[in-house]
Amino acid sequence: MSDCLFCRIAAHEIPADIVYEDDEVVAFEDVNPQLPVHTLIIPKKHYAHVGDGVPEETLGRVFKTVEKVAALKGLEESGYRIVANTGEDGRQTVHHLHVHVLGGARMPIRMGPAD
Ligand code: 5GP
Ligand code: ZN
Repeated sequence: MSDCLFCRIAAHEIPADIVYEDDEVVAFEDVNPQLPVHTLIIPKKHYAHVGDGVPEETLGRVFKTVEKVAALKGLEESGYRIVANTGEDGRQTVHHLHVHVLGGARMPIRMGPAD
């Protein structure tokens, strides 16, 4: 999708600080980090979100990349949080499936309804 920001990052049409890439996924730094480590993982192929008929193989590759990013970022011992904001109530802003990997500090974020 030529008008999708993350498709354009996957195609190297828009620059990003890429942490890891293979034939199916790209991991890159979030432009507006919420914690010392804030990396996004996307499949190269466009899916709007995790509920968009994503093949199991692709979901597997995305989530196996979490492990790779955690190792590259030194988060294996300290832990981290993974987040996939989905749709309107999930406050998804970029409608190309992505998983946030957040770490490097203890999570300040509580779970619960919006204020
Ligand atoms: P969402 O709110 O959809 O779960 O997350 C989208 C994320 O993409 C946000 O954390 C935002 O900071 C990040 N983002 C938005 N535009 C860009 C961009 O052009 N480059 C990068 N690297 N991240 C972006
Ligand atoms: Zn896309």
